[in-house]
Amino acid sequence: MDKEYYDNQKEKILIVDDSPDHLRLLSSMLVKRGYQVNCVTDGEMALYAIKADLPDLVLLDIIVPVIDGYRICQALKSHDKTAHIPIIFVSGLDSEIDKVKAFKAGATDYITKPFFVDETFLRIENHLKICRQKKNLHQILQKNIQEKKYIEDELNQSRTLLAGVLNSSLDGVAAFEAVRNNHGKIINFRWIVANPLAAMMLGETKDSLEGKLLFEKLPGHLLDGLFDVLVQVVENCIVFDKEHYSSADGTWFHIVAVKLGDGFAITLRDINEKKQMEIRLKEANSELQYQANIDSLTQVANRRRFDEYIAQEWAICAREQQYLSIILCDVDYFKFYNDAYGHQAGDECLFRVAQGMNLAIKRPADVVFRYGGEEFAVILPFTEGEGALKVAQGIREEIKKLKIIHDLSQASHYVTLSLGVASIIPSSQFSVESLIANADRALYEAKSLGRDRIVYKAVELPIG
Ligand code: GH3
Ligand code: MG
Ligand code: MG
Repeated sequence: MDKEYYDNQKEKILIVDDSPDHLRLLSSMLVKRGYQVNCVTDGEMALYAIKADLPDLVLLDIIVPVIDGYRICQALKSHDKTAHIPIIFVSGLDSEIDKVKAFKAGATDYITKPFFVDETFLRIENHLKICRQKKNLHQILQKNIQEKKYIEDELNQSRTLLAGVLNSSLDGVAAFEAVRNNHGKIINFRWIVANPLAAMMLGETKDSLEGKLLFEKLPGHLLDGLFDVLVQVVENCIVFDKEHYSSADGTWFHIVAVKLGDGFAITLRDINEKKQMEIRLKEANSELQYQANIDSLTQVANRRRFDEYIAQEWAICAREQQYLSIILCDVDYFKFYNDAYGHQAGDECLFRVAQGMNLAIKRPADVVFRYGGEEFAVILPFTEGEGALKVAQGIREEIKKLKIIHDLSQASHYVTLSLGVASIIPSSQFSVESLIANADRALYEAKSLGRDRIVYKAVELPIG
């Protein structure tokens, strides 16, 4: 049994005819070919049977009792549920008027009695085939409509989701596609989507940006070199990640651009607050650094900074094989100064001495330190003994120029300094301490020789 034949078995045919002979003949022919057949002999029964169980096809005689074939046909065609059922008139009436009337009433076909069995069967089969195909087409169409609706729903859902994510983002987010010339070269970028924040950052609205070209909309301060960078993002998949300062409105942005299809997605984050914080932190740090290195009384570098600086310059001069000199200075008879003028006057005196010393040094690398109490030190990198002696002389003169009265000093009427100078080309045979010790010895000698003077001591190799 082939498939078509098997399928036919399931199709239901209603025969409406008041002639028992016709009914018998037609129904036995159709049952033999596998159809389910139902027979009625008048119009009322026909409508009742159709309503109770919809047939796939109706074979309808015109002249039947109660309701004639035309009216049955019209009734079926005027109802949505039954309008699709093919109706074949099988009638002894053979005039053109009868046939036209039948077709006007909605007949699918018209067979005149006496009928040929094979022809009748083929006509029935053709109409059922058309019905089956219509049914299949309808099903395919319904399925397509459903699938399309499902896809549209999914699309709408993801659009809503995406819009929700983009709109609630604290960053400006936008996507672009590349605009290429005939040779495939990128000449611009077109906005595909932008969230409200991204639009706001560019002084636009979300809708005013869509479809527009990037390099017509972007403010000048964001343009510099950006085009080439974005071409790199698209052509070579290079991620662009940079903090950008807009000089026009003094705003900092963190910009990240990554390849997306034949274009890129960009995130713009306002990092102004973070940058301001960084700047304030930097300022606070350098202020702290300054405070940590400066002696508050004299406003010159402190002892902590002296230790750091001499170690650093020792290493540099050792590498360059250059002289490093230091001068140790001590205020003469300072105890008496305090005794005579008070501690506060003593403090002021130390401040003036420190500033006076500062005037005597010229090179940026030369630095004055408060070494402790009323003692000061000067570090002179890249300076040999002779140069250091000149600086020491300059310091002595600057202090003399200050003419700070010191009546109790046994060296002068004014405040004076004793200075010990030492120089060395640093190497592994010596230490920083040996240089400081020599300057200290020189200072001690200056004190012993009567103060208010300079003594120089070269550093010698330890014996043995
Ligand atoms: P010499 O000529 O031998 O150096 O005598 P001197 O009196 O200067 O030396 P001494 O070491 O006997 O005394 C140093 C004095 O410096 C004692 C101390 O009170 C004073 N002094 C140290 N630091 C400060 C300071 O910060 N302010 C004031 N006003 N005085 C200080
Ligand atoms: Mg002293
Ligand atoms: Mg002293």
